[in-house]
Amino acid sequence: MGDTRGFLKIKRRLSGFRAVSERIKDYLEVSLLPYEEHSQKQASRCMDCGTPFCHWTCPLGNYIPEWNDFIFKKQWQKAYELLSSTNNLAEITGRLCPAPCEYACVLEINDEPVTIRENELSIIEYAFKNGYVKPKLPLRRKGKRIAVVGSGPAGLSCADQLNKLGYKVVVFEKDDKPGGLLRYGVPDFKLEKWVLDRRLDILKKEGIEFICGQEVGKDIKLKKLIKEFDAICLAGGSRIPRDLNIEARNLKGIYFALDYLKQANMQVSGKKIPPDELIDAKNKKVVILGGGDTGSDCVGVANRQGASKIIQIELLPKPPESRQPHCPWPKYPLLFKTSSSHQEGVERYWQVLTKKFIGENGKVKKLFCVKVEFERDEKGCVKIKGIPNTEFEIDADLVILALGFIRPKTENFLKELDLELDQCGNIKTDKNFITSHKKIFACGDMRTGQSLIVKAISEGRLCANHIDRYLKVIH
Ligand SMILES: Cc1cc2nc3c(=O)[nH]c(=O)nc-3n(C[C@H](O)[C@H](O)[C@H](O)COP(=O)(O)OP(=O)(O)OC[C@H]3O[C@@H](n4cnc5c(N)ncnc54)[C@H](O)[C@@H]3O)c2cc1C
Ligand code: SF4
Repeated sequence: MGDTRGFLKIKRRLSGFRAVSERIKDYLEVSLLPYEEHSQKQASRCMDCGTPFCHWTCPLGNYIPEWNDFIFKKQWQKAYELLSSTNNLAEITGRLCPAPCEYACVLEINDEPVTIRENELSIIEYAFKNGYVKPKLPLRRKGKRIAVVGSGPAGLSCADQLNKLGYKVVVFEKDDKPGGLLRYGVPDFKLEKWVLDRRLDILKKEGIEFICGQEVGKDIKLKKLIKEFDAICLAGGSRIPRDLNIEARNLKGIYFALDYLKQANMQVSGKKIPPDELIDAKNKKVVILGGGDTGSDCVGVANRQGASKIIQIELLPKPPESRQPHCPWPKYPLLFKTSSSHQEGVERYWQVLTKKFIGENGKVKKLFCVKVEFERDEKGCVKIKGIPNTEFEIDADLVILALGFIRPKTENFLKELDLELDQCGNIKTDKNFITSHKKIFACGDMRTGQSLIVKAISEGRLCANHIDRYLKVIH
């Protein structure tokens, strides 16, 4: 701990965002990168707690107090080495992690937490800028081959760990380029794709092979992989969206959020979308159903496309602005958030249920909604109740359903092999990440359901450990 009184002298300060008037005109990252001196000051606020709750709540077990100290002492290379020992994609989590560590930071008890996520970003970007992040080939190859299915954060981290251990790793991806939701989910204004490509370039130079445009279970049979590889890791994510089966759902102009976001990302990368498939918000009244982060990403895209009006609707009540007694420190609280996309312009409604869509000439024109309240029945179950005389209509030319994801796509795998699923429809594994087929492992959203990038990375790393242990035992 470089400065024992840092937290008393310096206030928490984030680097912030580009001005709304500027950023709304492009798809470049909205966040500003932290300067080194800024991060040194912010890192000096870390108290090097005897029991670092930040470390305990980080799904990766990042060595946060230690690297904060290295930043303060300008020992950037040491900070990088420590950070990369627990996190394969620090440039991604440094930009996108909701940072459960910050909510558990001891300073959060009576002050504001250390800027942990931004300090992480500072370390990794300094490391790239100064040439510390170089391809490192394993000293020797083990002669065993592993297939990883899916190239999101879980698949990439699993592949990276196994490759470092000396296995030959081949990643199969159904999209045209690797990255999973980092490529075709998260918009460029939160993560420019050169950041992902920079990491992929290193992984390729280290010897990981990527085969894209091939869906396992359809274009390549799982049984073929079982014959050709010593182990298989399924990391295909969880992408079946929750639908809203109400009257007139089949009208034109109603789309799932990921279809909308994927197209937007493809367009930013220079791909042309055929006019009859294009989902564009230009001059349209856009209504986004779902008040979560995916909905917020859609707000950002719709604003950049030139929507005339954007409304985001959430069924649940507006979350509180500060911690409530039932969620004390160091628990991760559900709080009201205004994202950078919200700042760019949107009307937000809470406790609103959409009862039906209303159309004209086959196209959506309105939503028919009602305000709702929640009450518990005698068994303690929460019930939604429409408030009488609160029905209203909202004009809409484009409706985006951002209602979450219910399960992974597993039909093709099940046709070939009788893989067991859990009660939610995710791929079931034992505690060693092994599925009901002894050669097949699973990790990430495909195993847990839709979650967070940091959890997917953690899953990928743990799965790689279990695959390594399995291959050591059986061969
Ligand atoms: C719009 C959006 C924004 C998000 N933003 C954030 C954020 O800011 N911060 C955060 O922490 N989390 C965020 N998340 C959640 C996070 O992106 C996911 O939890 C994470 O990407 C899961 O990683 P994964 O590797 O398990 O799966 P994915 O990222 O979904 O990757 C799975 C990959 O497997 C491929 N695949 C699937 N089946 C097959 C098959 N049969 N053959 C070959 N390839 C296959 C898919 O094409 C995909 O590329 C966001 C999610 C969404 C939808
Ligand atoms: S909990 Fe906060 S103050 Fe304590 S070690 Fe972690 S980052 Fe530093």
